[in-house]
Amino acid sequence: MPTNAQWFKGNTHTHTTNSDGDTPPEAVARWYKSHGYRFLVLSDHNVFTNPATLASLMDSTFLLVPGEEVTTSFQSASVHVNALEISRLIPAPKGGSLVETVQNTIDAIRAEGAVPHINHPNFRWSLDTAVLWRVKNDRLLEIHNGHPTVHNEGGGETPGMEDAWDALLTRGKRLYGIAVDDAHHFQGEFAPERANPGRGWVVVQATTLNGRALVEALDAGRFYASSGPVLEAITITESQLSIRITRQGDFKYTTEFVGANGRVLAVNKSLTPQYTLQGDEMYVRARVIDSAGRVAWVQPVFTTRYVERQP
Ligand SMILES: [Zn+2]
Ligand SMILES: [Zn+2]
Repeated sequence: MPTNAQWFKGNTHTHTTNSDGDTPPEAVARWYKSHGYRFLVLSDHNVFTNPATLASLMDSTFLLVPGEEVTTSFQSASVHVNALEISRLIPAPKGGSLVETVQNTIDAIRAEGAVPHINHPNFRWSLDTAVLWRVKNDRLLEIHNGHPTVHNEGGGETPGMEDAWDALLTRGKRLYGIAVDDAHHFQGEFAPERANPGRGWVVVQATTLNGRALVEALDAGRFYASSGPVLEAITITESQLSIRITRQGDFKYTTEFVGANGRVLAVNKSLTPQYTLQGDEMYVRARVIDSAGRVAWVQPVFTTRYVERQP
């Protein structure tokens, strides 16, 4: 990481009246700008909301990264994949199977030089780990989505998104976990059963506030995801993963270092949790939980033992 890198907080998934949101793009962008976000992707369903039409909102503190939620389906399964840093609308593809539909969507996004992220796999119980495992050329998976009906935690026989992430990592698929709002509702009451903003975000390390730099950093895992906790630093050396937590108010924190199969390798209660790599882990990631139950997800560090596999 270059020493002049900065952290930029942003949300890569939100809706406006250009699809099924309740608020026009300008007011949505203003909500994020006035709440300390440095960048935002307006990701309407199969609509390209061109940031050039909102140029007056953009300055050195705030950037709109052009995007779209490419929205398609196969039989009863929903296939929603965000495209980040696009220059025009990407038409939603179809496929002869569910895996092919997801893959065609990823490929259409990559063909534009844009970066894909697979959205809310448990929405309508659409994309299980068997499907996600067979998809190639994707690096970003929503593990926390603020929409109330996407089943982040799983249920019944279906694993939650963190467990699905560990299952895929353990099998050899190199994936980074993102948190997003998927906000639709900026009007009226803010309540748990409504899709309000401010529930999930990413904090990206980049040298400048530039769309290309931000999405390349995301695609390479140079970020953390959060639903609350703020991290001041993440330091990775050959032998150690070190985190510095920015304490908010009188909150307390527990950090779990997680390895293959989702196994908790160590627990740390301090504001400066550290994990010494033993060398035989496949990967180690961290989950920082605050005393309200909100989480920051530190991306996996892959050891030399990690073998990336493809289906
Ligand atoms: Zn969606
Ligand atoms: Zn959405």
